[in-house]
Amino acid sequence: MNQVTCECGFEVRAGAESQVVDQVLTHVRTDHPDLVGQVTPDVVRGWIELVPD
Ligand SMILES: [Zn+2]
Repeated sequence: MNQVTCECGFEVRAGAESQVVDQVLTHVRTDHPDLVGQVTPDVVRGWIELVPD
């Protein structure tokens, strides 16, 4: 599983990297609109941790 934990505590987990990236970008748009310009898909990929199912 690919997992990203946001600095606010929000967690996203999915089997596909692209799904995690999409969900994090949606979260950032909703909860951290000030970060939208800085958090690109490449940045999100850098946050991914691989965790067991
Ligand atoms: Zn957050």
